[in-house]
Amino acid sequence: MHWEPIDKTAQERAEANLTAYDMAYQGFGWDAARAALDGLPGGGVNIAHEAVDRHLGTPLADVPALRWLAAAGGVTTVTYAELATRSNRFANVLRDAGVRRGDRVCLLLGRTPELFVACLGAWKAGCVVVPLFSAFGPEPVRQRLEISGATTLITTADQYRRKVAPNRAALPALRHVLLTDVGLDDPPLDDTAALPPAMAAASDEFPIVRTGPEDPALLHFTSGTTGMPKGAVHVHGAVLAHRVSAHYALDLRPGDIFWCTADPGWVTGMTYGVIAPLTLGVTLISDEAEFDARRWYDILTAERVSVWYTAPTALRMLMRRGDELPPGTDLSCLRFVASVGEPLNPEAVVWGKRVLGHAVHDNWWQTETGAIMIANLAAEQIRPGSMGRPLPGITATILRRGPDGRAAVQDGAVDYAADDEVGELALRAGWPSMFRGYWNETAKYARAFADGWYLSGDLARRDRDGYFWFVGRADDVIKSAGHLIGPFEVESVLMAHPAVAEAGVIGTPDPVAGELVKAFVQLRPGHEPTEELHDDIIAFGRRQLGAVAPKQLVFTDALPHTRSGKVMRRLLKARDRGLPEGDVSTLENAGDHR
Ligand code: ATP
Ligand code: MG
Repeated sequence: MHWEPIDKTAQERAEANLTAYDMAYQGFGWDAARAALDGLPGGGVNIAHEAVDRHLGTPLADVPALRWLAAAGGVTTVTYAELATRSNRFANVLRDAGVRRGDRVCLLLGRTPELFVACLGAWKAGCVVVPLFSAFGPEPVRQRLEISGATTLITTADQYRRKVAPNRAALPALRHVLLTDVGLDDPPLDDTAALPPAMAAASDEFPIVRTGPEDPALLHFTSGTTGMPKGAVHVHGAVLAHRVSAHYALDLRPGDIFWCTADPGWVTGMTYGVIAPLTLGVTLISDEAEFDARRWYDILTAERVSVWYTAPTALRMLMRRGDELPPGTDLSCLRFVASVGEPLNPEAVVWGKRVLGHAVHDNWWQTETGAIMIANLAAEQIRPGSMGRPLPGITATILRRGPDGRAAVQDGAVDYAADDEVGELALRAGWPSMFRGYWNETAKYARAFADGWYLSGDLARRDRDGYFWFVGRADDVIKSAGHLIGPFEVESVLMAHPAVAEAGVIGTPDPVAGELVKAFVQLRPGHEPTEELHDDIIAFGRRQLGAVAPKQLVFTDALPHTRSGKVMRRLLKARDRGLPEGDVSTLENAGDHR
């Protein structure tokens, strides 16, 4: 599948000019860039300092760091100076409560200003932040509190009552629970403490704990798309990659108004919804509400968003609504649109150009990589359907596969795939935001590396121009009659059919072919799941894909997604085969295909 590049205008290229800081980094590598980090006065690196305090005393201090849009309406603005003070107070509250450096502090909060204050304050106090998705039920919350051994939880009274209180006795490490929405007059709830009065009484001053670049800052759980979620450990020095990648891959610059739609419970929402944009001095938009097409267009318009980072599922939902924008929509401030999390179908890239006025820049990374690794860079041409090229400072390659479908490692050495050959996507180990471990799973961490490469578990190919094309997760690839088929390519083709809104493709066991390609298809509004339509989509697939087209097709009302927006093919597979569903703690909606 080859696609024509989308040309940028001269102005778009000029605007993507690199800053002196980045030129230094590009020419001299990560060590030179490290020197360009401000660092803490007196030595050390701390994410909260790089994100907020270093802007104090500059004109940025009085610029809004955050514009928070309440679900019920209304906007709260917090400047960089206010964010610095509030996070100092929060760090004092933690210290006074006896929370120590290195303690894990879990955040179970919706998208609210307290979330920003809490994670910045926890870093200032030298703690390890563990973001939890606020829509998790009691069991995933308990699991993650237990695995992380968190001593401290920041949450609301309602969340605590529903999700934590029932399991509190089973969490002996959890000593401090701070509730963001209760006061001294509220009736006491177990042995929790009220945050607002403690904040009011705390000092504005806090000397940031002098963390080093290798000190852990974040424990991030993966999305659980392929199995049990894993806790990836990230260090304070990762902030260098956060900042540089946001500049290159998202084109972020001071003065931008930036909206990252991901929830900070996931790595995208933390890295690019909190840290990276603050390091670059932009104004963040944070919306408390869930997806709603009309609301989203209104936000882009009213907040004059200039850079927008979202996900394929959201784009597909907007596409489903049609090409006509709601009356009053004005996207003239928008300069750059990017997407992550799942393969971005070429349809969506082109739709962006047509409807939003900007082709969508796909980029690729993982919880483990800590920052964007491969991207359709701001300064380069987009290839619709491709994830783009490695960022400066990142070396990516494709490794030849062994019989198990993962990179073949022989006597500790790997073998490299040719151009256009499908293999396992790997990254040269050692970039600043690389994860430093899976929490309490040393062996699993060691297995993720070979011959100096981090093995991503994703299959891809690289074309002659160095663009990477996603094929699928190693676990998802279908082996049918001697063909190796990536579900994404099949799904993309099906989605080009006018009646198809979304497709999920798996292999179903077959005595002759080994596996047959089976598609689960969700229709666009206005289309009925008739036999004719079934046959028409099958024929459409066959015309486009030939031998690798789906042989079986099932209509479904909803595909199962993870809460971070990925199609959970392992669940389609388990249901198809009548097997146990496994860990579904990160499942968004229970699409029923039986
Ligand atoms: P788990 O590791 O628990 O199975 P997960 O891999 O979905 O869950 P994340 O770290 O949130 O957890 O997601 C990273 C994965 O998302 C990548 O390995 C890749 O499979 C997919 N992904 C991310 N961005 C892209 C992209 N631009 N194109 C295709 N796939 C992407
Ligand atoms: Mg993964």
